[in-house]
Amino acid sequence: MRTDLFALRHIGINENNYQQMFKTVGVENLDQLIYETIPDDIKLKNNLNLPEALSENEYLEHLQELADKNKVFKSYIGLGYNEGLLPSPIKRNILENPGWYTAYTPYQAEIAQGRLEALLNFQTMVCDLTGMELANASLLDESTAAAEAMAMLFDVRSRPQKKENVVKFFVSEEILPQTLSLLQTRATPIGIELVIGNHEEFTFGADFFGALLQYPGKYGQVNDYASFVDNCNQNNIKVAVAADILSLVKLKAPAEFGVDVVVGTTQRFGIPLGYGGPHAAFFATKEAYKRNIPGRIIGVTKDTDGKPALRMALQTREQHIKRDKATSNICTAQVLLAVMAGMYAVYHGPKGLEYIANKVHNTTINTATAIEKLGFKQLNTVYFDTIKIEVKDASALKTIAESKKINFNYINDTTVSISINEATSKKDFEAIAACFAELNKAENTASFTEDVQTVIPSSLQRNTPFLENEVFNSYHSETELMRYIKKLERKDLALNHSMISLGSCTMKLNAASEMLPLSSAQWGNIHPFAPVDQAEGYQILLKRLEDHLSEITGFAATSLQPNSGAQGEYAGLMVIRAYHESRNEAHRNICLIPASAHGTNPASAVMAGMKVVVTKTDDYGNIDVNDLREKAELHKDNLAALMVTYPSTHGVFESSIKEVTQLIHDNGGQVYMDGANMNAQVGLTNPGNIGADVCHLNLHKTFAIPHGGGGPGVGPICVAPQLVPFLPGNPVIKTGGEKAITAISSAPWGSSLVCLISYGYIVMLGEEGLRQSTSIAILNANYIKERLSGKFDVLYTGEKGRAAHEMIIDCRPFKQNGIEVTDIAKRLMDYGFHAPTVSFPVAGTLMIEPTESESLAELDRFCDTMLSIRAEIDEATLDNPNNVLKNSPHTLDMVTNDVWDFPYSRQKAAFPLEHIADNKFWPVVRRVDEAYGDRNLICTCAPIEAYMEA
Ligand SMILES: *Cc1c(COP(=O)(O)O)cnc(C)c1O
Repeated sequence: MRTDLFALRHIGINENNYQQMFKTVGVENLDQLIYETIPDDIKLKNNLNLPEALSENEYLEHLQELADKNKVFKSYIGLGYNEGLLPSPIKRNILENPGWYTAYTPYQAEIAQGRLEALLNFQTMVCDLTGMELANASLLDESTAAAEAMAMLFDVRSRPQKKENVVKFFVSEEILPQTLSLLQTRATPIGIELVIGNHEEFTFGADFFGALLQYPGKYGQVNDYASFVDNCNQNNIKVAVAADILSLVKLKAPAEFGVDVVVGTTQRFGIPLGYGGPHAAFFATKEAYKRNIPGRIIGVTKDTDGKPALRMALQTREQHIKRDKATSNICTAQVLLAVMAGMYAVYHGPKGLEYIANKVHNTTINTATAIEKLGFKQLNTVYFDTIKIEVKDASALKTIAESKKINFNYINDTTVSISINEATSKKDFEAIAACFAELNKAENTASFTEDVQTVIPSSLQRNTPFLENEVFNSYHSETELMRYIKKLERKDLALNHSMISLGSCTMKLNAASEMLPLSSAQWGNIHPFAPVDQAEGYQILLKRLEDHLSEITGFAATSLQPNSGAQGEYAGLMVIRAYHESRNEAHRNICLIPASAHGTNPASAVMAGMKVVVTKTDDYGNIDVNDLREKAELHKDNLAALMVTYPSTHGVFESSIKEVTQLIHDNGGQVYMDGANMNAQVGLTNPGNIGADVCHLNLHKTFAIPHGGGGPGVGPICVAPQLVPFLPGNPVIKTGGEKAITAISSAPWGSSLVCLISYGYIVMLGEEGLRQSTSIAILNANYIKERLSGKFDVLYTGEKGRAAHEMIIDCRPFKQNGIEVTDIAKRLMDYGFHAPTVSFPVAGTLMIEPTESESLAELDRFCDTMLSIRAEIDEATLDNPNNVLKNSPHTLDMVTNDVWDFPYSRQKAAFPLEHIADNKFWPVVRRVDEAYGDRNLICTCAPIEAYMEA
């Protein structure tokens, strides 16, 4: 037997565990369990056609060979992507540290105070630099953030005249091309009309609700927007600005012009280019919009003892609540990247950032001077880091530059722009100048002057302080930073502590071998708009990943562009929309969605311009086929799509699925499958096989990309042949189908860098390992189900009584003892566990998904814990809430306090089972007060006194 198989490392169960588990589950073998779980008519007849599994070592060698095919040039392309320097201690202690990257979205605030603080730092940094009052904890990329700004301003528009007539949005021609493309995608379906033009010639018409500016402009010109914004404000036109974060260190904060929203990317704060991502975008706005802001906001509140505590504020799961009334579908964002960018500001502090910005600015001025001295004309009058040069023959310059491994941005035959960045050294400066000297056949006389006069007029210079908070002025030595990062890390429960059995979220192993290549500059340092031939390693890898995902899903082609599952949903629906349009059936706009669907489904459908019709689920949690048929037939003339999750969000393989997909096709619709539960399908069945037309996958669930505390994500869509022509494109680099829809994300292949992880996952597991993973995920779920049986009711099962890869347990009956599902979630912390998914898809329940990566010992510890909690529930009574569940979680502070007046022992509070002492996790705050924080919203690191007084 091969012992170097990755599957043996990835899968936590081994052959020695089988007999015991089969006995508990009540099957002879794995085949029997799968037979009893997955309906026969949807099972795959043949094995997937995938290459044979590589060992971890073979994989790392293979990836190095691919990496060597990437050509790492110095890229001065700009356009929203600039090389930055990732400080080594942040790389080592966060990016390469499972304590950070394997954490989940901080819904369980008491065991997430570390990343919540890191995100609060990020928000504070964004507020300081933009001058705005409120910032969220990241969005997917700059273009998405700009589109979200447009959507928010559209939603809040108010006019004396009828709202229906106020549908125009002005977009400055200075906007980045990928942002314009994404705005087009988002505007059309919801009826926004884009008007693109020069901001100086804008007429401030009464039919405009908003405007978007780029600051500095796409080729570097810095405009004074003061009078434009003034005029807009007077005409009730709301203004959003897409700003470069580093330039804001030198430039007047956009808030000072009176704008309503500022968006941008924090990529250049140390985040690798990564051929497009992942990077954290920011979204900052006025307090007045606090209930409209997309994405998650971290806010300050207090715990049971009145001590400060952090948690996600306000409408943090807004699509879950608002569903088809939601104006944004953002769920997964870019937490890990936001944490890193915020830490970059913590490490450098205001002085460090100023040094970096000055250095970039000075190098830019020196570059301009050197090139002008060679006889070229520089066209930007005011600039920060980007200059625009007139040349006779841009293609000749390109040849010269590429011979020196340099990329400029070639605007047209006679104009180039050059964006200087933090990594541009004096040697680089000389090399840039040398290109122009060679072009003019002149001698390179470039010399660097340290003290140059800024070209930014005082009216546009920043003169307000920033990052004055203590956190940005305390950790500037590596020892201090390392300890600060560790201090935060210790407050958080991640996969390196215990199982995180979040149903629907698939928290599986994120293997070190999958992660290692991300650290390499050969993957990290490639600009998304670099000529494709410089990214051969990426091109091979991404194409293979697409092909493997198409094979796994049973579809014809894949687009890796969407940066999250929700964006995948949106992309899939937009592709369906384009397909209907191409057949002159643009009127098809009804989207059927079962009541149990994830909240992002209806939110995405509305964004795609569709009308949501909710269909019923029956008493067993299955799609009510009769209701569905009725509604499909009723709407058959306008039916666009069905969105269906499979296995269902209730964790069941519905046997009617083929009938359902046929029904939709018969009535002219396309079937969209939400692939969040793909971990129950891979290798055994697939969306193509059940008759779907498109699905998204969550590579950050099923395909091993870590959750990063709430992102990054990758949500590719895989499509049937008729939808291939419409796969999303990019305005700068050709990608997507023949009749590609406009962009879904800023970058042509989305977050390419983390695609390495999923590629590694697939090629190291191979066909057999993938199939085995799915089977064991199903075995583990059914094992837990049987161990808890009799003590917890499982809400839904398949026809033969089996769960799929997850199950819902009902906690509503415990209300009679005064115990809510939240009490169980919090009590789990005392036992060292993160709660399963709470109240989704059914309120008052827990959804448990163990995945294949957990060992039998860990599954047993979890089951023992649940049974122990069950016994505690029995002890609880409705009339006396002073019990171990209601008071949970218990902190070290409580347990070691001289005063202890709880009616149970300290041991029972903190060490209720014997094994806990061996690996105790201490929540650092008591239960957080959600409502208090929402009433007193504070979303930046204000001094503690400020909010305790509030
Ligand atoms: C996670 C999930 C989504 C959304 O994915 P994000 O990456 O968070 O946008 C959609 N549907 C289901 C069922 C999910 O579990």
